Amino acid sequence: MTLLLKGARAIDPQAGLDDIVDVLVEDGKIAEVGKGLSRPGCRELDLAGKILVPGLVDIHVHLRDPGQEQKETIETGTRAAAHGGFTAVCCMPNTAPTIDTAFAVEYVRGTAERVGKCRVHVAGSCTTGLAGEILSDMGDMARHGAVAFTDDGRGVQGAGMMRRVMDYAHQFGKVIMSHCQDEDLVGDGVVNEGECSTRLGLLGWPAAGEEIQIARDIALCRLTGTPLHVQHITTARGVQLVRDAKAEGLPVTAEATPHHLFLTDEIIDDTYNANYKVNPPLRTEEDRAAVTAGILDGTIDCIVTDHAPHCPWEKDCEFELAKFGMTGLETSLGLVLTQLVGTGVMGYARMVELMAVNPRRIIQVEPVRIAAGSTADITVFDPAVEWTVDADDFESKSKNSGFIGAHLKGRATDVLVGGEPTMLDGKVLG
Ligand SMILES: [Zn+2]
Repeated sequence: MTLLLKGARAIDPQAGLDDIVDVLVEDGKIAEVGKGLSRPGCRELDLAGKILVPGLVDIHVHLRDPGQEQKETIETGTRAAAHGGFTAVCCMPNTAPTIDTAFAVEYVRGTAERVGKCRVHVAGSCTTGLAGEILSDMGDMARHGAVAFTDDGRGVQGAGMMRRVMDYAHQFGKVIMSHCQDEDLVGDGVVNEGECSTRLGLLGWPAAGEEIQIARDIALCRLTGTPLHVQHITTARGVQLVRDAKAEGLPVTAEATPHHLFLTDEIIDDTYNANYKVNPPLRTEEDRAAVTAGILDGTIDCIVTDHAPHCPWEKDCEFELAKFGMTGLETSLGLVLTQLVGTGVMGYARMVELMAVNPRRIIQVEPVRIAAGSTADITVFDPAVEWTVDADDFESKSKNSGFIGAHLKGRATDVLVGGEPTMLDGKVLG
């Protein structure tokens, strides 16, 4: 397919590009970037007023397939990704069964090839069944395309086991992603420990429960030399630990979610809206501000959603019993554009680094540039369109967003994966 993308403002800090140009896409690649391009007979998209960037990638997504298809499937999850402007995701292994074998990796990759609306990179588990007792078949999974390893959902509890995980992964050159939660300390905590837990009479999930494991894993990164990626960082001290590790030259990266960037524990009130029950929990304003400072100064490398679909009955119940997590693929870009770019807190170029460039670097997949020769994974968004988040508009099978009703400015309109449109004019294709 040949496509001529006309008149968008193309922004790519890797190429030093911020200009209104035309982009010619041919045979899955960007064939030419320039002004006044024409190609008689080929399909043109008029993108005047829109912004065109390297395709967005979300490296922390729960697709729930295999085993929990009542919440999400690879098809609905990748449709949600396309709808939100993403060209690729990295899915977490806490499915049923766990993605802890090459067979499971192949199942996800093969299914995504058939029914997916974006690329699906797979993170395999560190330990069998996320039980923290037996190393999973990381070598076999790496050979079958796993890009990273994590026990996300709970985290590896034992320091000795985490050291073995990192030593083993070192042989394959893969990153270890860490969900930092000391279960012995966190226990049954459901909200941030402090004023929030006291006010609501709910068990607290202390910041220290996260910081202890961030500090531990940084020490193990120093010991083993294996790259460490700190998942969904939420606390001010945690951000400082990563900042110090980077200053020391350790191969440490980190991610933050829109809900930890834009919400605090103050929003949880006596209506006990379980859509605000996430893991790690929403923290204090001081923490939120520190996470924001971290994404601005380069301490935090990428924005991810931790898209965590759940069924209505898993959220419409007592707060203590509700499942942790909220969906995020379809609101992430709009929130970042509204809350960070639209307010002047950061520019488009940093947004592209956080949502397109650095995620690919962390999971070590091919970079995408707005330049001739690059794979044509492209996201186009309208920075001016105003919209209200509506659960009925979600492509995701689940509706458990903490941002329903939010008024946002800026939204993805068109998405290309390998030169093929997956969304045109706001409609997911197929
Ligand atoms: Zn997690």
